[in-house]
Amino acid sequence: ILEVNQLYRKFQSGTKTLTVVNDINFSIPEGISCAIVGPSGSGKTTLLGLCAGLDRPTSGSVSLNGIPLNPLNEDERARVRNQHVGFVFQTFQLVPTLTALENVMVPLELRGEGTKEVRENARELLESVGLGDRTHHYPTQLSGGEQQRVAVARAFINKPKILFADEPTGNLDTETGEHIEDLIFELNEKQGTTLVMVTHDLELAKKCSRIIKLKNGQVFEDSAVEQQPETVVK
Ligand code: ATP
Repeated sequence: ILEVNQLYRKFQSGTKTLTVVNDINFSIPEGISCAIVGPSGSGKTTLLGLCAGLDRPTSGSVSLNGIPLNPLNEDERARVRNQHVGFVFQTFQLVPTLTALENVMVPLELRGEGTKEVRENARELLESVGLGDRTHHYPTQLSGGEQQRVAVARAFINKPKILFADEPTGNLDTETGEHIEDLIFELNEKQGTTLVMVTHDLELAKKCSRIIKLKNGQVFEDSAVEQQPETVVK
């Protein structure tokens, strides 16, 4: 579902050229969960932005759900994101002037699909993340964990084929973070949404079926995770 070929992203810093993504290649099949890990500054967030079509590579190509992103202009890429992609960021990035319910509806309103049905769907999603009684609260009236749950509900309103998450639990306490993790993995498993997640947290990475380790903008290791059976049958 995600193909990355000979991908480079360079930034100009004064007279120096910084190669932040340096010849990255991988292919992620539909339905899996994949963690992108690596030291600070290794290029994880930059790579995620390229994969999600938020940023353009210096060279190389990204293909998302069979759609090559390179030839697309900004509007066309926004349309692809809107149709196929969900996002959860470390900073929740909710719209402060909208209620929880309205925030969840944003991706579909952008598509001109803000119908009664969508409203009902948004309400159900908020209920599924345990916020059925917070639908009319504004982000400032919600805790960090609650805001992130709204962001997770929003990410799933358009039934994305692929979810990109950047440190989704980075700003949350352990218990709240675990709850958000469970929600994300549940949606990955139940809806078959492919998950691509940047994280510092190795325990979280191990819950994914694949781990891509970056170092200095390159893939240092790309491995399948052996899943531990959850219960031991005696
Ligand atoms: P962290 O774990 O600390 O979030 P990361 O692995 O996600 O780090 P990136 O955010 O991708 O790393 O950044 C990689 C490098 O690219 C950093 O050195 C950063 O300063 C540089 N960088 C990122 N974006 C830009 C930009 N727009 N212009 C110049 N340099 C940039």
